[in-house]
Formats: sequence, C-alpha cells, structure tokens
Amino acid sequence: MNNFVLRHVKRVNEEKIDIVIEDGKIAKVEKDGSGQGKYVIDCSGMYVSSGWIDLHVHAFPEFDPYGDEMDEIGVKQGVTTIVDAGSCGADRIADLVESSQKAKTNVFAFLNISRIGLKRVDELSNLQWIDKEKVVQAVKEYKDAIVGLKARISKSVVGESGIEPLRIARALSSETSLPLMVHIGSGPPNIEEVIPLLEKKDVITHYLNGKQNNLFDEKGNPLKVLKDAIRRGIHLDVGHGTASFSFQVAEAAKRHHIDLNTISTDIYRRNRLNGPVYSMANVLSKFLHLGYSLDEVIAAVTSNAANWLEKPELGRIEVGDAANLTLFTVRNEPITLIDSEGHKRVANKTIEAKGVVANGEYIEC
Ligand SMILES: [Zn+2]
Repeated sequence: MNNFVLRHVKRVNEEKIDIVIEDGKIAKVEKDGSGQGKYVIDCSGMYVSSGWIDLHVHAFPEFDPYGDEMDEIGVKQGVTTIVDAGSCGADRIADLVESSQKAKTNVFAFLNISRIGLKRVDELSNLQWIDKEKVVQAVKEYKDAIVGLKARISKSVVGESGIEPLRIARALSSETSLPLMVHIGSGPPNIEEVIPLLEKKDVITHYLNGKQNNLFDEKGNPLKVLKDAIRRGIHLDVGHGTASFSFQVAEAAKRHHIDLNTISTDIYRRNRLNGPVYSMANVLSKFLHLGYSLDEVIAAVTSNAANWLEKPELGRIEVGDAANLTLFTVRNEPITLIDSEGHKRVANKTIEAKGVVANGEYIEC
C-alpha cells in the first residue's frame, strides 16, 4: 500500500482535512473529503499530528531491567520516533544502531558516557568505565544516530564517584559538540550541585520526580537552580519511568507556569506491562488532566521534540516530507491514572493512539 488517503482526519485545532500519502511521502493535504488515493482509510473522529517522538526510552532488549523491543515502544504505541536514552555506551552502540535498521520506528540515541551503558545499573560508580577516547570515536562513527550524551547523576548510579562523572560528561560535551541529557534523582550528589553544571540545550530528564533532592521545595516552589536553568535555556524532559513522575510535583510545576518542553516515557518492558507508564498515550492523558491544552500536550511530543533534535520535518505535516504521522482519539471517558508514587487521579479525558504512518507505511495500533 504505497498510495493511500487518510480521510476525515482533524488537526489538533479541529480543522478537518484529508492527507494523501504517496511513495512514503506526504503528497497532498486537501480539503476534507476531497483527497484521492488508491486506498481510502476512513479516519472519522480521529486526530492527526506529526508522528509522536519519545525522547527517553530504553530500546536495547538484551539489557535488564531497562530494555524493550523498538517497535513495541514505538509504532505499536503511536510513536514513530524513539530516542534511546543511554542504554548503550561505546561498547554496544553498534548493536543498537544495527537493530534500529530493522525497526519500523525511527531510532536515535543518547550515548551513555559509561562504555558499559546499562549493562549494570551503577554504570558510573567506577570512573574506569568512562573511556573518553571510545566516546569520541563512537560519536564520530555513529553521528547520524547519536543526538547527545547521557549521564545518570544520582546516588545509586554514581556511588562514590559523586559529581565527577558530570564534570567528565561536560568536557566530553565540548569535545564532541553534543548536548547532555542528565538524569536526576536521589542524592548525593545534591541537586544544587548538579544543575549549575548544565548549559543551554542540555536536557534535564525526570524533572517532575518526587524524590528527595528533586527540583521543588516542600511547599512546591521551584528551586532557584530550576528557575536559573529555565532562564539559561535548559530543556526540561519528563522521563516518567517507574520512579520519576509525581502528580504532586507536576501539579506544583503547573501552578508555577513551568512550560512543557518534552513529554517522554522512559518506557521499558516492565513499566510498559505493569505500569505506571503503560504507554505514551497514557502519559499524555496525565498531562491533559493536569490542565495543559491538547495543543500543548501534542506539541510536547511533536514540534518541541523535533526542534530539540534539530529535525523540524519530524514535527510538522508538510507536503514533500517523509510521512510520519500519528492518528489518535480524545474521548470523554473516565480513566484512572497512576503516578510513580502510587498516587491516583481520575481524569475525564482519555487519549488513545489508533495508528501511525511510519515512513509512508500505515500501521494500526
Ligand atoms: Zn531512562
């Protein structure tokens, strides 16, 4: 099926259109009901956006617990582009890139500064595992796939190494001209020591975590380091995960008008099957419930992510671009949502992924 039309889809702004796909590309965007194609897919009642992008996933199935199959967390969930968040370091990045070529989902990666990646979950506890030459070499060899460097800076990962791995990451960032994605969590190191080392374009992932050492004080006010980071142009990424999303913190962030940058899942096998992540759509429903508009929520998995990646074509619907689209519904149906702390909220709107077009191929969810 290389020529088809998605008929009666609506954009997030409710405008109804038809989208004609030909030879993998968006061939035409036409008035509702007027698009012609060999096959017609009736999408009445569905929204369309450019294909969802998940900036933080674990897509290297061999590693346990943080691993999963690319298409299970990608196209089957409505996500056409995933970014592996440092599952692999220099030792295994070649294997990740190789398996990405067989996936229908588009795959990019943050390279873990530890050569062993998430083969162990204390990958920065031994500084010997940071091999600077290997990092630089891997970045050169896989420059099309690698979009940044990953450093997990929390107690159980760094052990006795403290803040040193972040200093090394900073130096590697200048050497490779790649931004950092820094995972935050329990200390030490103290969050007030971590954040000042970040620069414009770097990503804080897990910014809504509810652990001690998070980015808000007991009253729910954002710490000065967070406000300064936002001013410096540091990118905030959700990275929901098993342990890193708190409704209470997210409600505080909303109250303080902290804009959404990207919503990502930090999904892997276990938190997909058993929660609290389940799917990208489930995570998006949480943000709709928090009071962000549908437009803001969808931008956080389309244009905002595409802009960060400096791949604007992944965040728009434009004739001539490769066809990467997500079809979804928003139903007025109650849903019970659960955060990483076990706290629940009952929402009255449910986002559900219905299908994708991934590089021109239509796949139902
Ligand atoms: Zn992660």
